[in-house]
Amino acid sequence: MNVQSQISASSPATTEHFDVLIAGAGISGVGAAYHLTTQCPGTSFVALETQKTFGGTWSTHRYPGIRSDSDLHTFGYRFKPWTSAPIASAAEILKYMGEVIEENDLSRHIRYQHTITSAKWSSAQNLWTIEATRTDTGETVRFTTNFFWMCQGYYRHTEGYTPEWKDMARFKGPIVHPQKWPDDLDYNNKRIVVIGSGATAATLIPALAKDCAHVTMLQRSPTYFRTGRNAIEIAEQLRLLQVDEKWIHEITRRKILFDQDAFTRKTFEEPEAAKKDLLSAVEAYLGKDYDIATHFTPKYRPWRQRIAFIPDGDLFQGIKSGKASVVTDEIDRFTEKGILLKSGKELEADIIITATGFNLSANGDIEFAVDGKKLDFADTVTYRGMMFTGVPNLVWVFGYFRASWTLRVDLVADFVCKLLNHMKQTGARKVTPALRPEDHNMPLLPWIDPENFNPGYMMRGMHLLPKRGDKPEWQHNQDYWAEKDEFPAIDMNDHVFVYA
Ligand SMILES: Cc1cc2nc3c(=O)[nH]c(=O)nc-3n(C[C@H](O)[C@H](O)[C@H](O)COP(=O)(O)OP(=O)(O)OC[C@H]3O[C@@H](n4cnc5c(N)ncnc54)[C@H](O)[C@@H]3O)c2cc1C
Repeated sequence: MNVQSQISASSPATTEHFDVLIAGAGISGVGAAYHLTTQCPGTSFVALETQKTFGGTWSTHRYPGIRSDSDLHTFGYRFKPWTSAPIASAAEILKYMGEVIEENDLSRHIRYQHTITSAKWSSAQNLWTIEATRTDTGETVRFTTNFFWMCQGYYRHTEGYTPEWKDMARFKGPIVHPQKWPDDLDYNNKRIVVIGSGATAATLIPALAKDCAHVTMLQRSPTYFRTGRNAIEIAEQLRLLQVDEKWIHEITRRKILFDQDAFTRKTFEEPEAAKKDLLSAVEAYLGKDYDIATHFTPKYRPWRQRIAFIPDGDLFQGIKSGKASVVTDEIDRFTEKGILLKSGKELEADIIITATGFNLSANGDIEFAVDGKKLDFADTVTYRGMMFTGVPNLVWVFGYFRASWTLRVDLVADFVCKLLNHMKQTGARKVTPALRPEDHNMPLLPWIDPENFNPGYMMRGMHLLPKRGDKPEWQHNQDYWAEKDEFPAIDMNDHVFVYA
């Protein structure tokens, strides 16, 4: 079926046109909208968002205690100072994003309850035709756009990932995934088992511990955590000196990023020393008698999976108080009363929470086609983790795992705006990344090297992701410290970019 016949297969009454169409109104989509307004004035654009409101992750996750696991000086945008404690609740993040929208008059550009279902590129028209379903009316609406800016995040918001364990149906109590937290879940004085020990579990457990009878963190294998005061010393000092908040934001960001880069390098160059730093901070809370070797010492090198920050050691304080505990074991099966472990021990529970992660959805579950041919992103090679060979006029935002996601939102936005301005100046209507002659013998590898970073959702979904090459320009290298210099230096006339 060619593009034209696909277009006429469903027939919305009208088609609206925008220079740029943004998918999503999470931290990435709102950032894209801000940068378009400021760096490409006069560009018409719309952001289509499935949910009833902005915020993405921070509006769809409603479990108790939901908060960031990285600091808001760097998770916040570079253009709007963060003025509170670095680890923030979802409510605080939403308030901050709401201010960005209001201060920059962005709400007139956002259409909520619009789920993008298909995106079809036509080289004859040099346009994307985007169809969306209005979740309030069920109506199909159609847009055309010159440039598609995908800010759809990396996982499916409608459901989390829950493994199939034997006899789950036998358990008498509720089994809840944190992504679908029921508003009326009463956990007062209940015994809870949380399966998993990632950032979500680490956030939930101290919050649940306040009111439940007891909460057990059940993990197959341990996770690294960083811990410390929920404060950044340099920000506190500058505030005491009554320095302007804009300066505090910039200086604090630089300090955090410098320290993070040093720590990341240490995890590669001196992994044992980095491990010791992390574990001694845990020991400072739990004491020498606690079995840190079993429960908090992973087998992998630090930073191969995301390291969550535990503000004020609240998870460890919960353990120390006796309200929370950790069990490191494997699940054999569920029982009526709880979970039978492979060691033979039974964990009794009134509620079981499966903090077991996400389902990767790299393309927002949108059906793509280029010139009538169905597009599978796994057949493409990524240009710097944001564009794809053979896919014209499209950028997607994939943030950092070892640093705050939003750092890349700002960097990618600078690139997109520079590209759009360049195309306007040169009269180009189409830009498609392509391998250059010198790239043709380059090995094509999975999106990310599992030796470098290997969380479960990535490993489960790697086959869906574009390929990477072995040169910096053909991969998402997860290195903000390098990209902050590399991105502004990108030459718009590089032969990677094929213009028409
Ligand atoms: C609980 C939790 C805590 C986290 N904490 C941190 C942290 O502290 N620091 C950090 O750096 N990262 C953190 N992350 C990762 C986090 O998801 C990202 O940092 C960031 O919020 C992603 O923003 P985003 O706008 O790119 O994507 P999302 O927040 O996922 O937003 C994408 C938006 O796009 C919409 N959308 C998707 N598909 C479509 C479609 N087809 N049509 C229309 N709309 C669509 C979605 O509804 C959603 O609103 C956390 C993740 C989770 C789940």
